[in-house]
Amino acid sequence: MRFHSLRTRLSLAYALFLLLVVGLGAFSIRQLDDYNRVTAEIRDRWLQSTRILGDLNNDTSDFRSAEGSFLLADTLSERQDSAREMDTLDASIAHSLVRYQRIHHDDQEDRLYQDFLVHWHGYHTLVRQKEQALPLESGTAIRLYRTDARTAYDRASEALGQLTQWNLVGAKNAVERESATYRDANGWIVAAILTAGLLLFTAIGFITRSVSNPLLDLAKSMQRIADKETEVPIQGVERSDEIGVMARSVWVFQDNAQALLTSQSRLAEQAKSLEDALAKAQEMTQQQHNFVLMTSHEFRTPLALIDGYAQRLYNARERFGPEEVGERALKIRRATQRLTTLLDNLLDVPKYSAEAIPFHPQQLDVKELLRRLCQEYREVAPDRTFQEHLGEHCFFLMGDAELLHQAFGNLLSNAVKYSAPGSFITLEAQDREGTLVIEISDQGIGIPERDRPHIFERYYRGSNVGSHSGTGVGLTLVNQIIALHRGTLDVASTEELGSRFTVHLPVLKLS
Ligand code: ADP
Repeated sequence: MRFHSLRTRLSLAYALFLLLVVGLGAFSIRQLDDYNRVTAEIRDRWLQSTRILGDLNNDTSDFRSAEGSFLLADTLSERQDSAREMDTLDASIAHSLVRYQRIHHDDQEDRLYQDFLVHWHGYHTLVRQKEQALPLESGTAIRLYRTDARTAYDRASEALGQLTQWNLVGAKNAVERESATYRDANGWIVAAILTAGLLLFTAIGFITRSVSNPLLDLAKSMQRIADKETEVPIQGVERSDEIGVMARSVWVFQDNAQALLTSQSRLAEQAKSLEDALAKAQEMTQQQHNFVLMTSHEFRTPLALIDGYAQRLYNARERFGPEEVGERALKIRRATQRLTTLLDNLLDVPKYSAEAIPFHPQQLDVKELLRRLCQEYREVAPDRTFQEHLGEHCFFLMGDAELLHQAFGNLLSNAVKYSAPGSFITLEAQDREGTLVIEISDQGIGIPERDRPHIFERYYRGSNVGSHSGTGVGLTLVNQIIALHRGTLDVASTEELGSRFTVHLPVLKLS
């Protein structure tokens, strides 16, 4: 494609425009010059000539009157006055003639003027000769005045009249020419202004259509591309000028923007999948961490039991007979076995959730289990008073002895941990229409109202626990174990007075 520069085209258009305006201006100035020339001619020639001829007409007719007065004067002084007036008029006429000769005249005027001069000189000479021949009789004087002088004067006056007439016609023509030139100049100047205006509008239209509108369109397209719109139509790519170059650049820009958007969304997808993977990894790490926490928490109670049994066995080694030693050793073994089972269970569970807890239900007497547990805790915490209200009857249900032991053990362990030595811990069980309701109460620090809804959440610890050690996972486990048995766990508590945990355990029917 051949490049046609917009700048060159615009410069050419501007140059042409300038030339036209200059040409029209020059033409208008010439018209004004013409008008000026005609005006100057009227002012310097026709107006002056008319004035001078008017003066000559007046002066010559006055001279003729003065001549009459001179010839008919009765006294010497009257004659002298008339002679003086004639001299003055003579001088004025001579002055007018000099002024008239200074002006440029055409041939006809010159001829008429010469005619007047000849006749005026003839008359003038006659008058001056009569003056010399004075004094004349009054009859002779009047005769002379009416005959010779009159004829000579009339000739001169007629010549002057013709000259004046010619001058008037010439002046009239000049004035008409002046008006025509003025009209012409006016018309041309108006035409020049209109043409310049038309050219200006044409130039504005051209610039708007071929420069500013396409530029605005391109700017809009760029705005849309910047607003992340794809598939924006771009006008003017086929043009062979600077706007064409710009349009093609915008086109490339759009292509790049599209590529950038695509790679951005690909990057965002990758970042998202990386984030997901990271979250998963973090969750796994968290679960492993929880697992360790839970494990250590669950180990503490059996270990405390084992330690208690062993200590007591050691302290009373002298007193105990083989039967008692055997019984104590059995207790130590049971606690160790529970620990081993617990360890096995925990290590087998990669994800420690309610669903993942190994659940092996079997027929068992819950009251018996609670009784044993209570006994165990009496030995672990001899400085607390444990009260049992379990009733006479047994209560059998399908349950996992290990898990229930763990759950109620946790509740008793918390009752011990969050209460002071010397306080009472009560364990109650009631059989209510096929559901065993177990309540474990203490006289400890209680749970603040704002913490109560959260204590079953993993890692949540009450705001009043102070220096009591713990991890916040025990109640979560209890809740999960009770849920496995289709039971419920509730808490009622008053701060600084104590807490009561209530478990509802239904008779579980296995399907
Ligand atoms: P931990 O005892 O290790 O903190 P738990 O899950 O067993 O974790 O208990 C969660 C929270 O419930 C405890 O931190 C404590 O604030 C509150 N809590 C549980 N049992 C009792 C109780 N018997 N008396 C007072 N507060 C208790």
